[in-house]
Formats: sequence, C-alpha cells, structure tokens
Amino acid sequence: MPESKQRVSYFYQPDVGHFYYGPSHPMKPHRIKMAHHLILSYGLYRKMEVYRSHPASPAEMSAFHSEDYINFLAKVTPDNLRGYSNQMQKFNVGEYTDCPVFDGLYEFTQLYTGASLDGAVKLNRGDCDVAVNWSGGLHHAKKSEASGFCYINDIVLAILELLKVHARVLYIDIDVHHGDGVEEAFYCTDRVMTFSLHKYGDFFPGTGHIKDTGAKEGTGYSVNVPLTSGMTDDAYEKIFKPVMDKIMEVFRPGAIVLQCGADSLTGDRLGCFNLSLKGHAECVRYTKSFGVPTLVLGGGGYTIRNVARCWAYETSVLLDTKLPDEIPYNDYYEYYAPDFKLHLTPEQRENLNTEASMESVRIDLLTQLSGLRGAPSVGMGEVPPDFETIRESTRENDERTEAREVRDGDGENDGGSGDDVRGRGRTKDGKGERKDHEAELAG
Ligand SMILES: [Zn+2]
Repeated sequence: MPESKQRVSYFYQPDVGHFYYGPSHPMKPHRIKMAHHLILSYGLYRKMEVYRSHPASPAEMSAFHSEDYINFLAKVTPDNLRGYSNQMQKFNVGEYTDCPVFDGLYEFTQLYTGASLDGAVKLNRGDCDVAVNWSGGLHHAKKSEASGFCYINDIVLAILELLKVHARVLYIDIDVHHGDGVEEAFYCTDRVMTFSLHKYGDFFPGTGHIKDTGAKEGTGYSVNVPLTSGMTDDAYEKIFKPVMDKIMEVFRPGAIVLQCGADSLTGDRLGCFNLSLKGHAECVRYTKSFGVPTLVLGGGGYTIRNVARCWAYETSVLLDTKLPDEIPYNDYYEYYAPDFKLHLTPEQRENLNTEASMESVRIDLLTQLSGLRGAPSVGMGEVPPDFETIRESTRENDERTEAREVRDGDGENDGGSGDDVRGRGRTKDGKGERKDHEAELAG
C-alpha cells in the first residue's frame, strides 16, 4: 500500500488528561492533554479522523485480566482503601508501590483502554490503516497485578482484539523500559512476536535479557534488545532497522502494535537514553513504511513537555506532514519555554553502548530470527469467539464513537489481510457507563 494513502484515525477522550497520580509521582496524565493541544494547534486534526473513544467495560478487560483484580480496581478509592489492605498487597497497588490508588483510578484505566480497543476494532474493520491512541501503551500491567504505573494492560487487550482477524501480530516497544507485561502475556505463542528495545541492567523492571526468547510454541518469538545509557539516534537506528527488516521477512505480521514510550528521549526524568525526536520518530516512520495496519500507542515519558513534543511530531510523521519548529500558540504554550521550539538537541555525553556490543546484539538477534520456521499460520476457524461475544456490538460502538472531525467521510470496509475473519455476528452487552469526574489537576 502506498504510504501516502494511509488513512489515520486518532482516538482521544478529553477527560483522560484530568487524572492525577499524586504530587510526587512522575506519571502525569496531563501530558496526554498537552500532546493533544499541540496536535490541534499544528492543525493536524484536519488530516485525520478524530474520534472520542469509549470507556472499556469490565467484560472487555476480562479478556486478559482476572475478574477479582478488575473488581478490586473498580471498588478501591482513596477513601476506602483501609478496607482493602490485603488485596492492595496482592495486586501490588497502594502507597508502598509505584501504583497508587488515586481518585478516578478505574475510570482512567477504562478511558485509555477503551481508546486502544477502538483503534484495534477500526483497524480490524479496514476502516483505517493507522490508529493512534497516545493515552495507551501501559505495557507493565499483568493479568492480576499492577506494575510500573500501569494497572490495565491496554496493549495486550488490543492485540487480543487484532488476533481475531490477523493470524500474526507484531508488537514493537521503544519505551526505555522493557515491555514485560506484553511479553509475558504472549511468551508461549507464535502468533504474537514481541520486539522490545530497552535499558537493561539495574533498571526497572529487570527483565528483557537477550536470551529470553520465548517458550513452548513461542520459542524465538520474543525479541529483546538490551541496551545501556546514552543511546544515540544513529546507534538506535543501526539496531532497529536490520532487526525490523528480518522480523518483517520471517514473521510477516498482519497487524502491528507500536508502543512509543517517550522516556527513551534525551532529558527524560526517569530515562537514560539520548534520543532526539527525530531518532525516536524514525522508528515510527520506518514501521509505517511497511504498509501493515498499525496501532500506535503512547507509554512512558516523564519530562512532560518533551512527551507532548514527541507525540505531536510522531502524529505528523504518520500523516506525512512537515511541522514548523516554532511551537504554535496553544493552551500550554508556557510549558515550551524558553525556546518554544519543537525539536530537541541531544546532550553532549558518552554513548555507553559500544559499536562492538551493538554488533554482537545485532548478530545474536538476526541468528535467533533466522532460526524460526517461517511465519506461522493458524486455522482461523479455531480462534475462540469468546472475546467477541462479550464485546459490545460494533454498531453500538460506532454510535458512541462520535466523529468530531471527519475529513473525507468514512472509508468503505475494503478488506485487507487474507487472514481476515471479520464479519462475525457480535452480541450486545453492557454500556460501560461513564461517570463525571472532578479532576484535581496540579499545575
Ligand atoms: Zn517506560
């Protein structure tokens, strides 16, 4: 498919930026709102279809997460948490963890998860080629456990949705942290390949060794690129592109999920890489160039002015649009002081990833990928239908996914992969009711 013809759908729910993890917590949902306003002020909404996404229901979340964990998240609040101390320990939530109980926690998970599911459904129906949800990408969450600021794993849920239609899904993770929750969920299957580039060694979450390549049917299908501090644009590209080329050759995914965690940028509050926006976005541009249906998600990112810069710029890359380096005036203009420029200059510091270490990693991974038997296929008739029966009907979904700005009208469902099993009946389910939330927003 020609790159220029790729249709981009963008999913956003205005409340998602109003949640607050707490005063000293580095995760700031406000960055998603800042990114959105920067995207608007650059006029990018005119080149894509912008949707207000639906909040995910407990039934949708239960495709991956355990019901007792979902019930707990739905009930616990800052006011009643004393009654939940056993469960808080069991589910790794609360003041002694990095996953606090905050006002509206469950609603926040519903919003970022619903947007990823909406993107996956849109891709499955062939209604767009690229779907974007900057509020998603919470890659550390486990089946029954919160981890690393993540509670519900929207990525795993979106991949499960894509697997209804596509025999093989590729997951790419350029966050500075290992994409452990997604890797773990699909560690034993050859239908999902996970490809994570991350800082490894004395760094959260501690997993992602190059020798962790998968198990059982999934042996060889987990691809880990362990890196160290100071990673530059050039060195990153030299590992990303050859490994990506080999993955596309041997795995031939029907869909891709790209997690664009912005904590791999230079100057991140928690990260230790030295990438510019251009180096980070080159992974986005290169992934898009394969013309495979792609769900693009956010992730980490703790210097929030740079997170907004990054995701606005990457939206422009997905739209093949050049942006001026001058930040346009917008509601959060003062955050971009003192230079009010879009692009970042990497720091003058050493890249501790040596040529020799990078070459060794590259060779090991190409060898791992060459050893695979070739792209696995599945009899799609065997794909269990349970996820569809609990998901809201697509028609109902469309009604609630109100288009706020539609450029060329909705495209026809023009098919796509030969692995397509779309068109099954979907049954109606609950509405995922949404409550108003008074956000406490710190400056
Ligand atoms: Zn991260």
